Amino acid sequence: MATMRVVQVSRPKGPFEIVERPIPEPGAGTVRIKVLACGICHSDSVTKEGLFPGIQYPRVPGHEVAGVIDAVGPGVPGWEPGQRVGVGWNGGYCGYCDHCRRGDFFRSQVALQITGISFDGGYADYMVAPAIALASVPEDLSAVEAAPLMCAGITTYNALRNSGARPGDVVAVLGLGGLGHLGVQFAAKMGFKTVGIARGKDKEPLARQLGASIYIDSQAQDPAAELLKLGGAKVILATATSGEAMSAVQGGLAVNGTLLVVGAAASMQVSPLLLLTGCRSIKGWYSGTSIDSEDTLAFSARTGVRSMNELFPLERASEAYERMMSGKARFRVVLTMGR
Ligand SMILES: [Zn+2]
Ligand SMILES: [Zn+2]
Repeated sequence: MATMRVVQVSRPKGPFEIVERPIPEPGAGTVRIKVLACGICHSDSVTKEGLFPGIQYPRVPGHEVAGVIDAVGPGVPGWEPGQRVGVGWNGGYCGYCDHCRRGDFFRSQVALQITGISFDGGYADYMVAPAIALASVPEDLSAVEAAPLMCAGITTYNALRNSGARPGDVVAVLGLGGLGHLGVQFAAKMGFKTVGIARGKDKEPLARQLGASIYIDSQAQDPAAELLKLGGAKVILATATSGEAMSAVQGGLAVNGTLLVVGAAASMQVSPLLLLTGCRSIKGWYSGTSIDSEDTLAFSARTGVRSMNELFPLERASEAYERMMSGKARFRVVLTMGR
C-alpha cells in the first residue's frame, strides 16, 4: 500500500510526530490533494495545544495549503485531477443553519468544518479536502507563493475590501509582521493612501518597499496625532497582537472611521467618548470562505502582492513551527513537501 508522510499531533500539547500513513481515498464530496506547500499560522496552535473543543486526535494541522488535485471523490462537479488548488481555514459549512441561510457561511453553526482542526490539514504529502473548501490557484502563483495567502492573505485582503474604505482614503496598517506586511501591500494596490505604523525607524524602508506612502514610527511619534495630521484614517487595520498599540492609534481615526481588528490581542482600552463624538467604530474581521481565498489569489497574482517567506522542508515542521511562534520569522513560515 502506498504511504505518505504526515506531521501529526496525537494529544493536546503533545509534540509533532512524523509518521507514515496510507494515502487516503477521497470520499463523496471531497478531493485528494498532493500538497506542495503549507504555511504555518499562529492558529495552528489551536490544534497543537488543544484550544478548540472536540478536536479528535491524532490530528494533522495546517490551513494554508497549496497543491494539486490528485484524485476526485464521487459527487464533485467542477474539479478535476491536475487542477492547482488551495485550502484555507474554512473547510465547509452546513448550508441550512440561520447564518448560512443569510449567506454568512463563515459563521455556520452546524457542522462547521475547519481545516486542520475538524479534519486533517496540510502538514502532509497528501490531504483530503471537501470540494466546497477549494480555491483555484492562478498559473502565475507558485505553491509557496499561494500557501500563505490562504490565511494571512485572505484575512487582510478580505478585511480591507469589506472595510468601507474607498480608493484615495487614508488607510493605516498597524504592525508590519506576517499579516501587516501583506496588509500594506493590499492597501496600496487597492488604491488607498497607505500608512504603515510600526515600532522603530528601521522598519521604514520595508514599509515603503511594500507600498506605504507614509510611515509612522510609533516609538518616536504619536501615531494618533500623525494620522490626524493626514485628516484621520478611514480605516486602521490592526494586525499587531498588542492591545496597547491598538489603544494608542484609535485617536487617529477620522469621523466615521473604523479600527478593524485582525490581530488577536487579549484586550485593549477603548475611549467611548472618542467613538460617540465621531461615529467611530471598532470591529473585528475573520478570514473568509473559499471564494474569498480565490479572489485573494487572483488579486495577488494580478497586482504582484507576495508574502515574504522562510521555507522549511516538511520533516523540519517542529522547528518551523517554533520559528513561527517565536515572532522572529520574516514574515511567514512555509513547509515544502518535495517528494
Ligand atoms: Zn491561519
Ligand atoms: Zn450553517
